[in-house]
Amino acid sequence: MSKKRSRLNSTLNLKCPRCREGNMFIPVKSVSDLFEMPDNCPVCKTEYFIEVGFYWGAMFVAYALSSATTLGCFVLAFWGFEWSITASCVFFTVVVILISPYVFRLSRSIWASIFIKYDEHALQGSSD
Ligand SMILES: [Zn+2]
Repeated sequence: MSKKRSRLNSTLNLKCPRCREGNMFIPVKSVSDLFEMPDNCPVCKTEYFIEVGFYWGAMFVAYALSSATTLGCFVLAFWGFEWSITASCVFFTVVVILISPYVFRLSRSIWASIFIKYDEHALQGSSD
């Protein structure tokens, strides 16, 4: 018996927005896998690519997440740790580069969760 995930939990854990169980991304075995995404949910078979260019909007989400991270890191380093401007800029640059694969995936997960609605019966229909 699986426990029902919340929308926030499934989005942050990169789960299918329809069934909240299947992974939206393949496991990472190489660097090229970081940005790979299956066409359908492995559990409920929901199509992740609703239309051509569907994930272009996720770029705006990624931009917002990266900007917030950049600002947060700069504020923390410059005023929190009282580092120099150069050190603060290097700090946020390194952090943004390191988290960029997760930001890419999270932005797509957020974007998909906006347009693909949760269906509590999605798992029951997956055995067809
Ligand atoms: Zn699914």
